[in-house]
Amino acid sequence: MPRMPIRTIRPFRFTRTKGPTEPMSKDKEPHDKAARRKLRRARKVSQRGPARQKDWDRRLTPETAEDLATPPERMISRRDRRHREVNLARDLLHEQQAQQAGEVPPGAARGVVTEIIPGGCLVDSAGTSVRCVLRGLLKSLETRERNVVAVGDDILYSPLDTQAGVIERVLPRRSVLSRKYAEREHVVAANIDQLVVVVSVSAPPIRTGLIDRYLVAAENGGLRAVILVNKIDLAPGEAGSPYREVMRTYVDLGYGVAFCSAVTGEGLDSVRDVLRGKSSIFAGQSGTGKSSILNALQPGLRLRVGEISESTRKGIHTTTNITLLPLEFGGYVVDTPGIREFALWGLAKEDLPHFFPEFEHYLGRCRLRGCTHTHEPGCEVKAAVEEGRIHPERYDSYCRLYESLE
Ligand code: GDP
Ligand code: ZN
Repeated sequence: MPRMPIRTIRPFRFTRTKGPTEPMSKDKEPHDKAARRKLRRARKVSQRGPARQKDWDRRLTPETAEDLATPPERMISRRDRRHREVNLARDLLHEQQAQQAGEVPPGAARGVVTEIIPGGCLVDSAGTSVRCVLRGLLKSLETRERNVVAVGDDILYSPLDTQAGVIERVLPRRSVLSRKYAEREHVVAANIDQLVVVVSVSAPPIRTGLIDRYLVAAENGGLRAVILVNKIDLAPGEAGSPYREVMRTYVDLGYGVAFCSAVTGEGLDSVRDVLRGKSSIFAGQSGTGKSSILNALQPGLRLRVGEISESTRKGIHTTTNITLLPLEFGGYVVDTPGIREFALWGLAKEDLPHFFPEFEHYLGRCRLRGCTHTHEPGCEVKAAVEEGRIHPERYDSYCRLYESLE
């Protein structure tokens, strides 16, 4: 690849592979005179290099230099199936940089980021909400592409008083949930354990295609997925109800399925069991009852944000911020207003079959190597569908998802 002028590449944190002052080896010296003269002049210029690039180098603190050594988003192919590993590696680097910045002062407390607010974030520390700002160095690591702290991050902070503090360190992330937004990665939340896919018996009816999409998105993001069927009051629950039959497929595949009604309260205890002690995110079509379930589990849960803003006398908080809601019975729920769709970020077409557990047995047995299981002759997956060993609707979902991926 030809070297690009520094000016155009600066915003993308490009790796500088060869320094501008690096001399050319002697044996590459050109033979004709004019070219040699040109080269000598070029060398002189290159020796002046650092001065010419003053602006650029002034920005190169030891921290940003190390940051530059990691491949920028631009260089990671969109199909890179190791996308998640790259993220985690980068997080590790952030952690190392934070450690180099100095020891965490004694008296630092631990907390979980519950909301990102202008100029900082809110942190839940043993049940108290603390308003925190970022320590200077951490702030300098913020890039256009990426926030240093995300909702769900475990952090260490120095308390200033009971309600304010300074974040000293972001602890390594266990998982990262991201979405594609304006062709970039947006970290929705960190350290989330499970995705709760909420569907309703009716109004709106169950769409298995959508469930399958969420299941794939969850597993691709390293999250456990569970399905929560709401509004069971609308189809009083004999065992043979159509929706129970639909859910049998998912139970057989090994997914956790719970049934409830936010209106009658039936099944809410099993929902508490699903959520207890974990950090969960709710997803699903609008109108399936996600808000109603949260309010039924813990009345006033979603008003918590309003309380906070009341204390700062800013009136009703009509934020669309992503927030982490602490549950009384243990655990957290991420509320993501306006974000109900998660793109299948970083998922390669050829990896898709592995997210369908029932395909696993047949993979590698098709006649053609590199069979996509969509149209090829001698496809074992298709044969299994025809023989009723794979559910046809699941196979339809696979084909549709396959088409939607790049
Ligand atoms: P969200 O968009 O997923 O947050 O859904 P909402 O919680 O706003 O609920 C959408 C509608 O479904 C509201 O009119 C609720 O009253 C209704 N609803 C929610 N849960 C239930 C339920 O268990 N049974 C019935 N019959 N209606 C429900
Ligand atoms: Zn095949």
